[in-house]
Parts: sequence; structure tokens; C-alpha cells
Amino acid sequence: MAIFIPEDKVLEIKNAADIVDIVSEVVHLKKSGKNFLGLCPFHSEKTPSFSVSPEKQIYHCFGCGVGGNIFSFLMKHDGLAFPEAVRTLARRYGVEIPTKSLTHEQRKRMGEREALLNINRQAMDFFGRTLRSKSAGVQAMSYLKRRGLSAETIDRFHLGYAPKGWDHFLNYISKKGAPLALVEKSGLVLPKKDKRGYYDRFRDRIIFPILDVNQAVIGFGGRVLDDSLPKYLNSPETPVYNKSRSLYGLHIAKNKCRTTKTIFIVEGYLDLLALHQHGIENSVATLGTALTEEHVRLLTRYAPGMLLVYDSDEAGIRSALRCVDIFWKEHVDFSRGDVFQEEKADTHILVLPEGHDPDSFLMENGPEKFQSAASQAPSIITFLIEQAIGRHGLTTEGKIRVIAELQRPLAAINDKVARSLYIKKLAERIGIDENIVLERVREHRSDQSKKESQTRNDLADKGSRLEKQIIAMMLQFPTILPAVKMHNVIDYIENDRLKSIGKTVLENQLSSAGQISELLTSIEDPVQQNLIATLAMIEESWDENGCLKLIKQFVATGKKHRDSKIIEQIRAAEKKNDHETLHHLLKEKQKLAVQSQKQKLV
Ligand SMILES: [Zn+2]
Repeated sequence: MAIFIPEDKVLEIKNAADIVDIVSEVVHLKKSGKNFLGLCPFHSEKTPSFSVSPEKQIYHCFGCGVGGNIFSFLMKHDGLAFPEAVRTLARRYGVEIPTKSLTHEQRKRMGEREALLNINRQAMDFFGRTLRSKSAGVQAMSYLKRRGLSAETIDRFHLGYAPKGWDHFLNYISKKGAPLALVEKSGLVLPKKDKRGYYDRFRDRIIFPILDVNQAVIGFGGRVLDDSLPKYLNSPETPVYNKSRSLYGLHIAKNKCRTTKTIFIVEGYLDLLALHQHGIENSVATLGTALTEEHVRLLTRYAPGMLLVYDSDEAGIRSALRCVDIFWKEHVDFSRGDVFQEEKADTHILVLPEGHDPDSFLMENGPEKFQSAASQAPSIITFLIEQAIGRHGLTTEGKIRVIAELQRPLAAINDKVARSLYIKKLAERIGIDENIVLERVREHRSDQSKKESQTRNDLADKGSRLEKQIIAMMLQFPTILPAVKMHNVIDYIENDRLKSIGKTVLENQLSSAGQISELLTSIEDPVQQNLIATLAMIEESWDENGCLKLIKQFVATGKKHRDSKIIEQIRAAEKKNDHETLHHLLKEKQKLAVQSQKQKLV
């Protein structure tokens, strides 16, 4: 160890670091006398026997007997070598370790992870200096100022600028002696097509360095200065960067999250910066990906409450439904919020007024208005209930749809008391007998366990799932019916029941989704009725173009399938010398060829 880091530095780091701080990032600790107590992260247990002493700066488990200091904890828990553990803490507590004294040989001995983090750190410095340079960075800096960012925020988040041109960073990092194969692994440069050399990934972009909770630079986001596309470009996944596990701003937000017990989650870099600049520091942003289970697991270490901020109802609904899935899998109760006022463990959804994102909302209205909107934000379930009512109304048909939509989210609540309170709330809100809602939710809960074993079958049944989707689209987007007719879509549907529904829809010349209930009355078969109702309520974010694309794709696969089937039959007939069938099949094949030729001309 002394090869890399001078002893006095190790001591300095040890004095600066706090073991309670580090351990409580992975273990939920409770004060117990002089010490802190929690569940051991190194063995499985139900009663806490893992003890941490702030006074002695050590930990010990009475269950499995492990123990040590802050370095050994990190080494054991994160699988780090000693120098890595020391560097991790040095970064976190702002202790500088001189790296220049390293020889080439020593550098090679540093782990790959360390080396990548080192390259990233140098890149951050390079981009940061470029932004502040009087020549290259002027435009970028004035862009940031125009977006309302203060010099303090720019510094605090180490914002930078990747200059125009193909090799500025490449040249810089080459001169520093970094092996280019490794730089490629960091995602900062890309190999040229002819494999002769590399070029910079980030060019003429504002750079947002992404730091982890230990202040390590793990990746970058880059934004253009104008409207060109792609607007944002992110580092690819690397050995040190995993999108679904990383959150922008968490390294600064974490302490505030602990004290406020709530985390604001937004979707963009600039939104996040606006929040911090306005003093709302318990905020993080996802990085070009939806909230994942891993994010949730990470965030619950810092605060029990989450508030997801969105700029549109649709985005809010999508995210709320995704959360329901995540929390269900994670067996976390997400919905105790407005049922148990005293409990802080909850997830809320804040949808900003139309036309606003967090950035513009804060600029216009200030942080107090934002906080007050946040304090009134509904819990996930309340949000979903109100959204469903807003979309479907409280007519009989509307109520049925509302219940159908809420069935799954309500069933996903693990806490029995919370579940029954929300069921009651929904029943009262839409004026329907509580038992009916209860029954629906129960059905869904028992269905769910069956479903898990069925998933495999469903996957095999993909063809029919696509067929269901086609019918659902026909029901929900009557404007696509002419295209359905023209491409003879119904001919390619193999499931008899779905085929017959498709025919009925075309025959009835449905012209608006509102006519579904009329259509239903014209159908006698109850199974068919159920199926139509189900399909009419499948929630997908479709648009007309998407529908047409899916139809074409469906027809194309259908044709292929049909053609190969006929060829197979022809072969079989040839083998058997069955001239009559052969003749019939060849005629059929010709007819189909003419038919599809005609469609092509249309
Ligand atoms: Zn233990």
C-alpha cells in the first residue's frame, strides 16, 4: 500500500472519514447506547447484531464475528483492494492524493476500475478548464448563464464543455500517457471505422460529469448548445458506469435527503441543477432511463419518501404504473402516504402545470411555490385514481374502466390495512359498493401468482398477443380501419375468436372509440364481450403512425408465414403425387401473389 499512498495521507483520510457515515450507507443503523446497531451486511439475520462504534471508529458483528475499521469495511463490502478503499474515501472526504509520483509500472498495477475513474477525473478537469477558457468556452458559458445557472452551481457540479473538433480530448489524454485501449473503455473516445485511431465522443457539447456517492467520476452527459440532435448524449455503460444504478446529483443530495426524509426525482440534468440552485438540494435525476428497481433500492438508503416530478400527465401515469411494478417486485409499500399521515414512507407524484418543466417552473414561480405544490402532491394510488376518473368520467362505463385500471395497482399494495383503506377510498370516490372493488382486487391478487407460471406460455403465445394488439388498436383507433381493410389484416389473424371480433368491428364501421359500448350490445356471446372490453381497455401509448407500422409489420410476417405454409403443403402434395391438391394449391399461390402485387400498387 505504501507504494501508492503515503502513510500520512492514509492517516489524514482515516481522521477525516466517519465510519457511521459510511456504514449507514448500506446498513440501516439505529442508535443503541454509545453505539449504533443494525442488520449485518455480511451474514443473513433477522435481529440486529452488527454494531458500529463512532467513538472507536470500528464495527463488529456479534453474529458472524466480522469486524474492522472503515477501510476493511469498504474492502469487504465493496470488494475493493486497500488502495482503492483509501482512494474512495479520499475522494469522498476531499483529501488530495498526489498521483504524479506514480511510475508506469505502478500505474499498471492499479486496477482497471481505478484507472478508468482516473481517466474520467482527468476528462472532467479537461472539460471544466475548456468551459472556463476565454476562447473555446465563451459560447458554452454564456449558454449556461442564459439558462439561469449561477457560477456557483456550475462549479459545484463541475460542469464543463467539450470543444468542437474530433480529437481535442484524445490528444490531451494521449499526452498524459493513458493507454488508448483503456480510454476507449471509458467511452470518451470511439474507434474510427477503419480501426486506425480514435475520435472524441463528446464534441461541442456542455458536459455534465456524473459522480457517485463517493465522489468518483463515473460517466458524463453531454448536451448540445442549439436544437440539433441528439440533444443529449451519455457515456455508454462501462465497468464503472451503470445507468440503472446511477443517479445524477446524489453525491450532493444524499445528506439533505437524510434530514428531509424525502427525495425529489426529476428526469433531466438542467431540471436537477435548477432544483439545487433554488435550495431544493434533496433532488436527483435519472439518466436517460426510467426509474429502475436498483434506483429505488439505492434511494431507500437515503430517504423513505420519494416524490417524482413530471411535466405531463402522461409521463406521470407511465411512471406511476412503472413504480407500482417495481415496488411490487421489491415488496416495498409505496402507498402509505395519505393514509398514514405520520408515516413518511411513501411515493408521491407531482405533475407540474402544463407547459412547465421543473426548470421553468422554478424560474417563474420560485422555490416556495414549488415546495407548496410538492406538499400537495398526491400519493401514487390517489394520483392514479384521479387520473383514471379524469380520463374515463363517472358514467357507468367510465366507472367500469376506472375499476379495471386500478385493479392491478391496488392489488400490488402489500400492506393489508393500506390496501383496504385505498379500496374504500376508491369505492367512495366513484360511488360504488366497496365489496365489488374488493372482489376485483382479490381476483387480481390470486391471478398474479398464477400468472408468474404462465408468463412462459404467454411468451410462446406471442403471435396471438400481437393479434390481440391489432384488435385493441382497431377498437381504440377507428381511424386506422381503412388501412386494416386495405391490407386484409383480418385474413392473417389466426385466432378464431379474434378474427371474428375483427370482422365485426369492420362490419360495424366503428368510427369512434365511444361506440365500443354500442358494439358490445350487438354481440351475444359473453366470452366475446369480455374479450372486447378487455382489448378496448389495454393501455398503450399508441399513435396513428405507430399503429400503421405495427399493422404493416403484422401483415408482412403473416404473409411470410402463409407463403411458407403453402410451400410446405405443395411439397407434401408433390411427395404424395396428389395432383389434384397440388393443382389447387398452385392456383391458390398464384392468387395470393396477384393479390399482394395489387396491394403493393396501392
Ligand atoms: Zn455478521
